[in-house]
Amino acid sequence: MVENYERLIEKISKAANLSVEDIERKVEAKKAKLSGLISKEGAAQIVAAELGINLDKERMKISEIVNGMRKANVIGKVIEIFPVRSYNKNGRDGKVANLRIADESGNIRVVLWDTNHIGLIERNEININDVVEISNAGVRNGELHLSGFSDIKKSNEIMSGEIVREKIFLTKKLSDARVGDSLKIRAVIVQVFEPRYFEVCPECRKRVIDGECKIHGKVSGMKRALLNLVLDDGSGTIRCVAFGEVINKIGISEEEIFSLEKFEERKKNLLGEEMIFFGNIKSNSLYGTNEFNVENVEEINAESLIKEMEK
Ligand SMILES: [Zn+2]
Repeated sequence: MVENYERLIEKISKAANLSVEDIERKVEAKKAKLSGLISKEGAAQIVAAELGINLDKERMKISEIVNGMRKANVIGKVIEIFPVRSYNKNGRDGKVANLRIADESGNIRVVLWDTNHIGLIERNEININDVVEISNAGVRNGELHLSGFSDIKKSNEIMSGEIVREKIFLTKKLSDARVGDSLKIRAVIVQVFEPRYFEVCPECRKRVIDGECKIHGKVSGMKRALLNLVLDDGSGTIRCVAFGEVINKIGISEEEIFSLEKFEERKKNLLGEEMIFFGNIKSNSLYGTNEFNVENVEEINAESLIKEMEK
């Protein structure tokens, strides 16, 4: 999901046999006509449609995928498969499966909602390292979502090139961040909330409720902590959530997180601390706000400071 606007424009320019400047002018005009209500990417898609170019049918690189697309076609190698989850929403039971695919430009999470597609995972018909072809996928939150109108199948194509396995974090200001972005931000801790605790199953690490794991039955759960913080990067603030070793990386020891007395002491020194945070912007439906799910934390070292000042 990196600077894909330029690539989109290039694609349209090639297909329409017009210069990049011409296409950009058309996009600007379209945006102005719509009173700036849509993004540059959205305007570019309308311009493409008006020029009779069908971007929908075209296969794209993972890095070219943008939020809001409804018929994305992509091919990638499966690098991660998550366990199929069951859920109950508004009294209806359902299942959802998640996997991650990669190509040489990036990687993206794929969410399967259709029982036929989920069956492919459950029957081990799609496995790690398989190359899969996805068509007509919707894009939201920086993820590919597959409904019954979408398709996923094993492909015979061979991907021999180097694929991007690491998650790509964008360096962006919080004020520019959107749901689905994987971000790297340099920010100050401005608020720290009291930790909350829960238990997980020692076998599968899933949540234990009333001493029971859904899969393993009665277990003696392992205590885990959840920490909420507020970060400020100078452009805005965001509520964050951190778990497990990420909490330790913020500078809170296991002892401190599980003892409220020690935690209160440690908390005083954390306020005002500046660090580099890596994570994802999610929408929190409960609060109707965006939330930053912290995946990693790095200290600001002299080296990175110098690099930044040189920019
Ligand atoms: Zn379990």
